[in-house]
Amino acid sequence: MYEFGAGKSAIRVLFEKSMALQQQGVTDIWDFSIGDPYVPAPDEVQEAIEDTMATMTSHEIHGYTANNGLPSVRRAIARNLNKRFGHESRRYDEDDLILTAGAAGALSATIATITNAGEDVIVLAPYFPEYRMYIQAWHCHCVAVDTQPVTFQPDVEAIERAICPTTRAVIIDTPNNPTGAVYTPEVLEELADMLRQKEKELDRTIYLISDEPYREIVYDGHENPWVPDFYEDTIVCYSYSKSLSLPGERAGYILVPPSVTNHDRLYDGLLGAQRAINTIMGSLVQRVIERCADIPAPIEEYRRKRHIIYHGLTDIGYDVVRPDGAFYLWIRALEQDEQAFSDRAFEHGLLLVPSDDFGSDSYVRLSYCCEDETLSSSLPAFQALWDDYGGYRW
Ligand code: PLP
Repeated sequence: MYEFGAGKSAIRVLFEKSMALQQQGVTDIWDFSIGDPYVPAPDEVQEAIEDTMATMTSHEIHGYTANNGLPSVRRAIARNLNKRFGHESRRYDEDDLILTAGAAGALSATIATITNAGEDVIVLAPYFPEYRMYIQAWHCHCVAVDTQPVTFQPDVEAIERAICPTTRAVIIDTPNNPTGAVYTPEVLEELADMLRQKEKELDRTIYLISDEPYREIVYDGHENPWVPDFYEDTIVCYSYSKSLSLPGERAGYILVPPSVTNHDRLYDGLLGAQRAINTIMGSLVQRVIERCADIPAPIEEYRRKRHIIYHGLTDIGYDVVRPDGAFYLWIRALEQDEQAFSDRAFEHGLLLVPSDDFGSDSYVRLSYCCEDETLSSSLPAFQALWDDYGGYRW
């Protein structure tokens, strides 16, 4: 824990550098480091808070909730899931859901529950850097497997090669942070078939953890497949941090679909994790989610932001992965050393996260959940950076 706390993530290092510069009065800074939405939370959130405060007793608002959360809130979420993903043979209900402190809480509780010390959890590089903490905290190994070049889709054969008798889970994240890739139904089918085969061969449950903070943020009519439809032993970790712009409120959930092996035992294990590590969603925000579970994510806002920055950068000449979802750009660095490139970008006031923290080389990540003006006003700085290098050096 000391190492996690003392060793800062690349994202935090940049964030703190930018805060320090801003305090010194420097204004030519474009902070693209962190995925902290500037898009305001929907009005309904404010209304839900005001209504809750006006109509409920202090104890109803602030009292303890059960470790899985208030039943009425879980019912509201289950109704929403059934509307979007349910069919006759498969319905979700409140006893499949556990309310958590964001996706981070959901992932921590899940990994704490399903693993024994010394087991492996596979992540697909480039991956969300915090996965390492969530895995290593339980004395497990974070095993990174590269995604396919160009498309950044899972490389199922490479995942298969990485699976061994101590593998407990594979984490996927679609739409993906940092590449914006939305996994195709074909690749999920292939992944599910392979995992099923491996479960049989090794005679153990291998979970597919579907980490979904960006589930709704998909563009251009892309469909983000519903992962439990592909693989029975899927556990979904969801977050309202991005869809409702509420990251500081810590709101998310775990869905244990009825198809999961030993569903009730796993659910009880997750309740144990909620007790032990307190990854429970706060009670006021639970009341808010109950009223806001059906509100759509602000996709149009993010589509517009993507347009500004994607075209702005590609017009200059940058090699950028066009994101089909989420709100990040994965940019090939102008020199191979991503840290050196990020440092040079910083000299131009541009805060871009180097890819090594994501388990990958020679890229930087730009988060475009900021204001439109930040995106458009940064383009001259990107041009100056390009001119400084004279374009790609590799
Ligand atoms: N997983 C991914 C891929 C993320 O990008 C994030 C946050 O940026 C999280 C999990 C954690 O999200 P939360 O704020 O819900 O804890």
